[in-house]
Amino acid sequence: MFPIHRPRRLRASTQLRRMVQENTLTASDLIYPLFAVPGNAVAKEVTSMPGVYQLSVDKIVEEAKEVYDLGIPAIILFGIPEDKDIDATGAWHDCGIVQKAATAVKQAVPDLVVIADTCLCEYTSHGHCGYLEVGDLTGKVLNDPTLELLKKTAVSQANAGVDIIAPSGMMDGFVTAIREGLDEAGFTDIPILSYAAKYSSAYYGPFRDAAESSPQFGDRRTYQMDPGNGKEALKEVALDIAEGADMLMVKPALSYMDIIWRVKEMTNLPVAAYNVSGEYSMVKAAALKGWIDEKKVALETLTSFKRAGADLILTYHAKDAVRWLNE
Ligand SMILES: [Zn+2]
Repeated sequence: MFPIHRPRRLRASTQLRRMVQENTLTASDLIYPLFAVPGNAVAKEVTSMPGVYQLSVDKIVEEAKEVYDLGIPAIILFGIPEDKDIDATGAWHDCGIVQKAATAVKQAVPDLVVIADTCLCEYTSHGHCGYLEVGDLTGKVLNDPTLELLKKTAVSQANAGVDIIAPSGMMDGFVTAIREGLDEAGFTDIPILSYAAKYSSAYYGPFRDAAESSPQFGDRRTYQMDPGNGKEALKEVALDIAEGADMLMVKPALSYMDIIWRVKEMTNLPVAAYNVSGEYSMVKAAALKGWIDEKKVALETLTSFKRAGADLILTYHAKDAVRWLNE
């Protein structure tokens, strides 16, 4: 009797395929990134990321309403300050751009979860994620002094109404430092979503246009991870769990699905995947050329992140994805 098993039996109709689908993308899985800039009525499209804008706070609020109405539960805020300096003042100042945006969004859409990216690279004059030794031109960030600034930044963001703190600078011990800072300030219930396994990736190129955060010299390889490493990601994740992280992130996502899977296998904490700017821009560029079907490629990619083990996906395609899913 050949063949006994005919897997095609369960693929025969749309309804059957729906019934046996193992992983399904929903709006609840998505987090939408937003870039806050000073000013009023500003909406400046990022050249390398069609459909993504730098927005002033009033526009961020409009966008937040739209995101919430689509059923997306959360946004993550990045900030582009008026001025940059070596102390990253714009990151931790109570009148910082992310602080202003968070307060305004929480006032207008209290139910929307506001996540703040907690790093210094958008606010330092040299574009690195922390303090540098005087005269250093390689980007060797001084770890422990930087932790103090991250602590201050997280507390200031929490004061502004942020619901989740997401440190992204890959400093050793940053979860411990931020947890201490938040707890001391009375924010014991604010979770930390740690960028636990963040790789030094060329896929961040367009983001640096969006966030105006390119390092002025050197690169980030002394703190972000080497793309060749897998076990090291598990080490980073284990440390962040031990330090009290509530959720873990793998970044980027597309070239690191094996890492998402391995992280998911080793922990019961929720795992987020960051579908980064370069991944978005490649799809956009090919779609604009008419070479691929943007909707199909984006939905397939996002569903694949879920299959790989992601519970949450940060993606510039979030709004489009929900509209497509609702069609
Ligand atoms: Zn950074």
